[in-house]
Amino acid sequence: MTITQKSLIDAVPTGLLIGGTWREASGAARFDVHDPATGGTLTTCADATPEDAVAALAAAAEAQPAWAATAPRDRGEILRTAFEAVTARADEFAMLMTLEMGKTLAEARGEVTYGAEFLRWFSEEAVRVRGQYAVAPNGATRLLTMRQPVGPTLMITPWNFPLAMGTRKIGPAVAAGCTMVIKPAAETPLTMLHLAQVLQESGLPAGVLNVITTTDSAGACAPVIRDPRLRKLTFTGSTAVGKKLVEQSAEQLLRVSMELGGNAPFLVFEDADIDAAVDGAMLAKMRNIGEACTAANRFFVHESVAEEFTRKLAARMGALTVGKGTKKGVDVGPLITDKARADVHALVEDAVGRGARVLTGGAVVPGRGHFYEPTVLADVPDDARCLTEEIFGPVAPVATFADEAEAVARANATEYGLVGYVYTRDNARVLRVAEALEFGMVGINTGIVSNPAAPFGGVKHSGFGREGGAEGIEEYLEVKYVGIAT
Ligand code: NAP
Repeated sequence: MTITQKSLIDAVPTGLLIGGTWREASGAARFDVHDPATGGTLTTCADATPEDAVAALAAAAEAQPAWAATAPRDRGEILRTAFEAVTARADEFAMLMTLEMGKTLAEARGEVTYGAEFLRWFSEEAVRVRGQYAVAPNGATRLLTMRQPVGPTLMITPWNFPLAMGTRKIGPAVAAGCTMVIKPAAETPLTMLHLAQVLQESGLPAGVLNVITTTDSAGACAPVIRDPRLRKLTFTGSTAVGKKLVEQSAEQLLRVSMELGGNAPFLVFEDADIDAAVDGAMLAKMRNIGEACTAANRFFVHESVAEEFTRKLAARMGALTVGKGTKKGVDVGPLITDKARADVHALVEDAVGRGARVLTGGAVVPGRGHFYEPTVLADVPDDARCLTEEIFGPVAPVATFADEAEAVARANATEYGLVGYVYTRDNARVLRVAEALEFGMVGINTGIVSNPAAPFGGVKHSGFGREGGAEGIEEYLEVKYVGIAT
């Protein structure tokens, strides 16, 4: 670490934020935060106990009535101030993410822009919460509907987008008037802690946002989810953990939003602009080192253009520079842990064992850190595990199809349903295929669909609920109906 990196990390509060006060965990335990590029320790964070997590919920519950009563404009102004502050401190946020998560500084800056935008978007949505007034069909009563904050919300976020996965939840919750307990992943707590401090400085009142960091996420979250003071659970992470949390949430019949795993198909039709499709594939595959829920996981290419597409994709993937994200000229950082890298490699070995050809990459990078070579696999057979499981790494498996019906059928043959990508120049096909794909989002001739102004979310085992767009704030609002006799 350079002196600047060290002083940046030293300036981040590493305690728990409960009721507006930073404090140590009860029991005073702390855990190490690692740099995935070196395996070295960056700093330590307070290791919350279940009692600390319940104390954070108590603070959120206490702050809820006054927070719900604040003027929407005031809540919007806090978000706007936070947007300006995060933007002004983009370099700090980017460096923290690169150090704790591994992505390159350029990618981390991209996440700062994306993540900050949720604060601005929801600062604008805060003042647009509306109700309705209607005359009942028999004319005897008036029907008034109003929207009110759901109440204290538990937010659980993953390590892959340490800033944006937080602001996508915090932005609409603040706008709607909900108080929060947020639990970032233990791998990447620093970005969230830094953001919490910026939100405090931006005027967020004590108790509205409480942050707990812990190595015992299951133990710390369970009593919060059981507590009747909690009204909502929003989770971004793996489908396996999401399913467990949905089960737990049934006890208090919580409002639930689940942003879970993906297995995105990337379809390239025979009429596509192949160079544009390769550009899109690089984004859809390599954004965030392939560690994105939206990552293209399965490339299905029409058999007449498969050779050209795969050759060009392999050339681009093979030319990428792998290394520490803070270094100039590096395109691809390390994977988050050694286990994550071993899982990716096992999927490659499985595909090769079943007959896939390695066009580029296919190996672990020796030495320190969890680096993996950008990899393209051709002729991947249907029974290869990488076509059914989330790869979460820089590996692009390519298979072929003969016609549109087969392409759609193969794309839909997964329990996941987050996003699908389609490259074609045929406008009629655009609508046909977009309607036929069983996914919450479809990208047409683009490798990125994430946009704060659009509803992000999945169907099937990719979860339910939407983040961003006009829909995003609805997740934090309850509709109340008032019948008025006339
Ligand atoms: P994960 O293992 O499910 O963890 C996600 C979060 O849940 C972390 O904060 C984790 O904390 C916590 N957690 C784990 N077990 C828990 C439990 N029993 N109770 C309460 N909290 C628990 O997922 P991940 O490996 O961090 O993230 C990768 C996954 O997220 C991928 O499947 C990816 O597709 C998905 N994802 C989805 C979206 C989306 O919007 N759909 C976006 C990004 C990522 P600890 O890690 O500290 O234990």
